[in-house]
Amino acid sequence: MSDASPCLSCGACCSYFRVSFFWGECASSGGTVPDDLVVQINPSRVAMIGTDQKPARCCSLEGEVGSGTRCSIYEQRSSVCRDFESSWSQGEVNVDCDAARAAFGLAPLEQPPYEFELPISA
Ligand code: SF4
Ligand code: SF4
Repeated sequence: MSDASPCLSCGACCSYFRVSFFWGECASSGGTVPDDLVVQINPSRVAMIGTDQKPARCCSLEGEVGSGTRCSIYEQRSSVCRDFESSWSQGEVNVDCDAARAAFGLAPLEQPPYEFELPISA
């Protein structure tokens, strides 16, 4: 079984949602996200440039959606990016993952087969 993340051949969520978060996550405020990659959307929140519009595409996304993508600020990405889970990565569907994929004609991720562990003793 491959351990490769399905996200590496997707990137749909980074090209579908407005990716917004508290400005305190920006580097100039003690956070990690480079300031020049965000736009202020209200007094307390910023959004990744490119996601506050339709069609959306985060300025930090590299590659082609549905083919091969990567986040160029992976280690510095915001909490909203870190917290977004692909479907089944936590054992359940993420309807937002499915919706983003559907917008690009990509099928929902399939539930991986269950793995059974036999008890060591009865
Ligand atoms: S839409 Fe789902 S599978 Fe695609 S990159 Fe986002 S979390 Fe990963
Ligand atoms: S910062 Fe990275 S993970 Fe977050 S939306 Fe942009 S490309 Fe995706």
